[in-house]
Amino acid sequence: MHYFLELFVVLVLGSVAMHVSDPGVASSLEPLRIDGNLSFHDVSLAARDFGNRYRLLPSAVLHPGSVSDVAATVRHVFGMGSGSKLTVAARGHGHSLQGQAQADGGIVVRMENLRGCETKVHDGEQPYVDASGGALWFNVLLECLKHGLAPKSWTDYLHLTIGGTLSNAGISGQAFRHGPQISNVHQLEIVTGKGELLNCSAEENADLFYAALGGLGQFGIITRARIALEPAPKMVKWIRVLYSDFASFTEDQEMLISLKETFDYIEGFVIINRTGLLNNWRSSFNPQNPVQASEFDSDGRILFCLEMTKNFDQDTAEIMNQVKLLHTTSPPMHVRIRSPPRSLVIRLPLWLQQVEALLSKLRYIPSTLFQSEVSYLEFLDRVHVSEVKLRSKGLWEVPHPWLNLLIPRTRIRDFAAEVFGKILQDSNNGPVLLYPLNKSKWDNRTSAVIPDEEIFYLVAFLSSAPSSSDHDSLDRALKQNDRILDFCKQAGIRMKQYLPYYTMQEEWRAHFGDRWVDFARRKGVYDPLYILAPGQRIFQKAVRSS
Ligand code: FAD
Repeated sequence: MHYFLELFVVLVLGSVAMHVSDPGVASSLEPLRIDGNLSFHDVSLAARDFGNRYRLLPSAVLHPGSVSDVAATVRHVFGMGSGSKLTVAARGHGHSLQGQAQADGGIVVRMENLRGCETKVHDGEQPYVDASGGALWFNVLLECLKHGLAPKSWTDYLHLTIGGTLSNAGISGQAFRHGPQISNVHQLEIVTGKGELLNCSAEENADLFYAALGGLGQFGIITRARIALEPAPKMVKWIRVLYSDFASFTEDQEMLISLKETFDYIEGFVIINRTGLLNNWRSSFNPQNPVQASEFDSDGRILFCLEMTKNFDQDTAEIMNQVKLLHTTSPPMHVRIRSPPRSLVIRLPLWLQQVEALLSKLRYIPSTLFQSEVSYLEFLDRVHVSEVKLRSKGLWEVPHPWLNLLIPRTRIRDFAAEVFGKILQDSNNGPVLLYPLNKSKWDNRTSAVIPDEEIFYLVAFLSSAPSSSDHDSLDRALKQNDRILDFCKQAGIRMKQYLPYYTMQEEWRAHFGDRWVDFARRKGVYDPLYILAPGQRIFQKAVRSS
């Protein structure tokens, strides 16, 4: 009995001690010669993330002054051998949800501070950009736009790092055409778990290249990435329509992603029991039919919003404005635009005709057609606008019990029938995204795991749980997530989690399925001491006493 009590005290105090910066770590890192610096005191930021639920204090934070700092640090920890419990986590923008970029008692590498990897855009027939693994996509976009170029595949939010999203997949409404972000990378520079600095691509060190893409940070720290670019559109027509019938909504989404000539971005979201929905939209969208739209009532209803965009260029936008004016203004204006360049006059109807033709194929509720025209940058950076609003109300840095699922197409209706309106009775705590993706645009040599069907849906429950509004909101949201996961299990829906979170290795094995063997093999090759990304909780560093 006494023995068990002692063991209990050791375990509990031991786990508390893990949260205190270990003075032994500072002396063990003393021999390291680096360009940047290691901080042992100001480490609390590295114990936070967007999820706001997990706080694991590291012993040190590395602010790398160069790529060699990252390599030297990992090499040093590797050299300490299996007798050391030190681990290393790359931290991008810290927008993980459950401590995935944290390292309990270990070293966190602040990738955003990485110096010596400036963003370089290469024009030409197949343009690309070389950027630091710690660069924010938003900053990379700004640099590319100076050259009239932009990456092809996006996330909905741009204030995430290249290394952070490439370690997952990076998906948004362009993925049906271009694949996820991990399908748009030519080359990576990586520091492996042994501290080697390697270049890799489909031709060179291909196994490491594919391992790292979607690899949850397990095989190396991405210090640089070469990303495919395309000519950047200047403007987008941004359209939203509503459905009350789930089958029509998803059939239309699937039809749109199957067409060659289609919208440039296709997403969707679920709205449950929202008051004054269309009135809220009016601040940024114009209703096609204002009178009918004002009569539309969303209260108590389950609705499905299809959201899409069509890119067009500035000249067309100007002509469109002029055409609008032509209909509404006096003769002098009429005279000024009487002879616009012929090519532009011909292009305008084509763009619009294409949009009109696509809209005419859809079965949405006619009074709910809303449109807007914004710059490409404004569209891509749209979530940041919400971030600014939420921050001003103190609603950004709150717990985020998010759940992201990839549901096979053949079971999406069963899923919707049980979850929307039954398990989830309103969508007031955050958006619920739902849109289709296609397996053929994903490369099965990467580490990303998706369902085994050509079409599958991302269903993302993006809840916020501010304690100011309701003390139980976090608990309720977590229970709701559990009910959704339990339902999938009981109904035999072979879904996969996106941004997966598991705590036990057997759950990870189930997640990877028959790809687990390869995943574990790659871990053994590139990070044999299990040093990297411990916050994913896939592999546990085993400490052996000598
Ligand atoms: P971090 O949270 O810092 O790190 C994530 C993981 O990657 C950790 O395990 C970390 O150790 C590892 N890592 C970080 N940098 C590197 C590196 N250079 N090399 C190797 N490993 C590294 N995802 C989508 O796909 N589509 C979306 O539309 C989308 N929208 C989002 C919107 C918001 C508001 C938020 C908060 C997240 C969203 N995400 C989306 C999820 C996002 O892609 C992931 O959470 C991503 O990991 C965050 O990037 P980060 O730079 O903050 O990474």
